[in-house]
This record gives sequence, structure tokens and C-alpha cells, in this order.
Amino acid sequence: MTAMATETDRRMVPAVDRAPSSWGLGDGQAIPWEYAPAPESADIVTIKERYGLFIDGREVAASDGGVFATVNPATEGILAHVAKATAADADKAVKAARRAQTRRWGNLSGKERAKYLFRIARILQERSREFAVLESMDSGKPIKESRDVDVPLAAAHFWYYAGWADKLDYAFPGRVARPLGVAAQIIPWNFPLLMLSWKIAPALAAGNTVVLKPASTTPLSALLFADVCRQADLPPGVVNIVTGPGEIGMSLVTHPGIDKVAFTGSTEIGKRIARGVAGTDKALTLELGGKAANIVFDDAPLDQAVEGIVNGIYFNQGEVCCAGSRLLAQESIVEPLIAKLKDRLATIRVGDPLDKNTDVGAINSKSQLEKITELVASGVAEGAELYQPACELPDRGYFFRPTLFTNVAQSHRIAREEIFGPVLSVLTFRTPDEAVEKANNTVYGLSAGIWTDKGSRILEMVGKMRAGVVWANTFNRFDPTSPFGGYKESGFGREGGLHGLLAYVRLEDR
Ligand code: NDP
Repeated sequence: MTAMATETDRRMVPAVDRAPSSWGLGDGQAIPWEYAPAPESADIVTIKERYGLFIDGREVAASDGGVFATVNPATEGILAHVAKATAADADKAVKAARRAQTRRWGNLSGKERAKYLFRIARILQERSREFAVLESMDSGKPIKESRDVDVPLAAAHFWYYAGWADKLDYAFPGRVARPLGVAAQIIPWNFPLLMLSWKIAPALAAGNTVVLKPASTTPLSALLFADVCRQADLPPGVVNIVTGPGEIGMSLVTHPGIDKVAFTGSTEIGKRIARGVAGTDKALTLELGGKAANIVFDDAPLDQAVEGIVNGIYFNQGEVCCAGSRLLAQESIVEPLIAKLKDRLATIRVGDPLDKNTDVGAINSKSQLEKITELVASGVAEGAELYQPACELPDRGYFFRPTLFTNVAQSHRIAREEIFGPVLSVLTFRTPDEAVEKANNTVYGLSAGIWTDKGSRILEMVGKMRAGVVWANTFNRFDPTSPFGGYKESGFGREGGLHGLLAYVRLEDR
């Protein structure tokens, strides 16, 4: 509080004994306050008790009537029961997609296809609150993230690829771009609607039809998207959505009626899928795991870097393939950097995903929470030093405290394995060469971050790093015009931008 404060102002400042010294507050200054709950209403979305598969423009039950439950990870309560597709259903979906591709969608002009994509983009924007609430309830991600990142970016992908649909001749000058045919698309649970848009928008723009399999823990936004397809009057069979276990994904991958497979998920399943298409002429793109280095040099603006580090690893509970899960800090600044980071961690709010003030929501599933817990225990057992802020966690639901490990060695599991949780491992370096060596010392190669004042250093580092995306003085920035994808065990192929379109066309000479 300043000297100009009134008596009323003074009464509004909560009484506490003493602010922690790390807050840097002198006597008489205002102290941080607790945020009052600010829950987003769930009334905007109607969640049905049961959902069917979306095949040939219609909602149908699984051929054997099977269903499975999808759970709200923040409450552990069942949200809905969803059809559990069989191999026969997958077959029906592929055949519907083939009919739609050969008889209708593949013959439409680019201008006509664009109209549908524009319509979908507009409907996504109109129904954005509904999508954001549903996504947060089904996945556990904070509403401010689904509202401000996932849903707007999903719509942006449809806008962007709608723009290309009638300009393929300009996208690939001198060549004729033909659709591949029918695409099988398998998506994960960390960005359900966004991954759907990364896959469906370029496929449709280029004249393909699709069969999409969402992850079993997060099927609801894809099923709401089926409703958008109906609302947009998309011809039946252009988009088909089959929900069910991993084997259904494999039924699609190995189906002879599939021309292209696009997968985002774990490296382990990615390898199985690569084996599944081996020996066929199916096109394949794989976007797999990561263990990104976020490198902070001693000339970096530390406060900005701290925000970038926090955004890099605690955004979406760290359940991000390109998360900056390894912090590489130059030795001379490691102490002030960690001190600032610990102060910042104390302000992160963990809790109800539907609360607009929540920074870190619920972990997506019980099994993912168990995986994170096990890897964090391994970090402690291997000798790294654990720090967690003393935040309270809700009594129910799958929550995990933001976690920071110092004294981490490159051999530790927490420095090598993808944790996919809010867990940061801090390593140090002395020279730029050592930073490059440590950053590249991973089986993955999806992303990286560099924090420095020098543009020349950024350019030099970028050239030496084996990562598909390198962010400079920022982290976790996405744009539909920008390609995204990895090297090594992070997969191959690119999504986004022209590269993302290229993955769905066959180029022929004129
Ligand atoms: P998976 O790779 O198993 O799941 C991703 C998608 O693949 C889901 O739709 C899943 O379906 C499907 N799938 C599972 N098995 C098969 C199969 N045999 N053939 C075809 N499709 C299949 O990831 P998990 O959910 O098991 O997560 C495990 C770990 O993977 C995480 O801890 C994380 O480290 C990593 N991961 C990485 C992601 C990334 O974006 N890079 C995304 C998700 C996870 P279903 O949900 O029905 O099993």
C-alpha cells in the first residue's frame, strides 16, 4: 500500500503477520490475496448420457452394443457412456469415407470444399464456450486454457486450411495436387479438439475424407464436433468418428481401404503403427513424444525466462509433447533463476479446471497420475532434489503439485523419459557447446527453447539443435501457418502450414 492509500484501502488489505521475504515487500506494502472462486458455469453444454459412433453422417450404436465410460478427471465422476466400436464398425466407417471421397468430396471444387471448412470454423467460434467447458470437463485442462488456447486455435486451423482449399495450384506451383483418399487419424488426450483440427482441416481441404479415432479418456469434444459437421451440412461420410480402444485404432491403420495414417501419441504406439503400415503404400505421419530442453543463458531477461519456463512445463499440467521438461540453466545464473522460479511456483493455482483462476488443472487419468508419481519417486530415489510448493490439492480427482527437481544428472530417468506431467528437471551448463550437447542428448527431437539477449547466439544454437521447433525467448507458441513435428523418436512428417497440407496430397506433374 502506498502512502496515498485511504483508510478504506487499508481496511481491505487482509491482516497477516508478515509477508515472506521472497515477495520483496517492505513494511506497509500490500500483500498477495487469495482469489475467490470463479467457476465457469457448465450449463452451456448438454452432455448426453450416451453417445454413438458417427458414421456416414449418422450417430449409430456399436455393432455389438458395447459402451465405455468417460470420466471427469477432476471429480472422478462418470460424464457419459460412449459407443465402443468393433472392427466391423471401423470397416463400416472406412467404407463410408471411401464412398464419400470417390462420389462427392473428391469431385467438389476447392471453392466448394472451402465453404464447408469456413462454415465449420465459424460454428466452432460460435460454440466456443460450449467446446471449452466440455473439453475442460472431459480432459481436466483449465478452462482459461481450453477457452483461450485450444478452441480458438482449433477454429484458426479450419480458417487457415479453408483458405488453401481453392488455392492448391498456388500452394504447389507447377504441380497438380491430388488427394490421397481416405485418412485414418488417431489422436491423443492432451489436446483433443486441437489435434482433431490439426488432422481434419488439412485432410478435408485437400479433398480427402477421414475416419478419426479419439483417445478413450477424451472422446466428447470429437463427438460434439460430429454435431458441428451435421450443422455445417457436411456431406455424409466425409468425417467419421469411431470411439473405442487402441485396437480400433490398429484396425483402421491396417485396413486395406486406408490411404494415409496420421497419428499423435506415445512413441511406443507410434512404433507399432509404423510396423502396421510397413510394406504397404500408405502414407504415414507420426507425431510422438518429446523431452525438450529449455535453455537459459546468463544474458537472458530472467523474469521473462521464468514465465517462459512456467509456461513451458506447467501449461496443460505438463501433458504436452513439446513441453520444456528439461531446464538447462547456465551455471552463473542458476541460483537466482531457481529462486525466482520457486517464488513463481508458489503463486500457481492448482485445482478445479472450471475455475477461471486455475493455472494447473487435473491430470487426465488415474493411470497418467500413477505414471507421473512413479517417475517423480524415481527422481528422488536417484538423488535429485525435489521442490514442490505447499499448495492444497482438492480432495477428489487426479491432481499433482507442480514439481521442480534440482541436482539432476543426465542419467536420471526424470532427465531422459517423457513424464507428461508438471515436473521440471533442472540441469546446468557452462558453454553454448555444452548446452547443445546436453539438449541433443535425448532420443527425442521435437522442440526446444532458447533464452538469450543475443540474436546471433539464437541463430547459431538453432542450427545445431536437433529439434523440429525451436522457440527463442518464448515457449509453447502455436500458429496454424507454422509447421510442427519432430526428429528421431519424436516422429516424422509435419502438421500445420503448407507442410501440413503436403502430408495430405499426391503431387503430379502437369
Ligand atoms: P497412446 O499413444 O497409447 O494413445 C494415443 C492414441 O493412440 C489414443 O487414441 C489411443 O487410444 C491410441 N492407441 C492406443 N493403442 C493403440 C494401438 N495399438 N494402435 C493404434 N492406436 C492406439 O498414449 P497413452 O494414452 O497411453 O499415454 C501414454 C504416454 O504416451 C503418456 O504418458 C505420454 O508420455 C505419451 N503421450 C504422448 C502424446 C504426444 O502428444 N506426444 C500424447 C499422449 C500420450 P486409447 O486412448 O483408446 O488407448
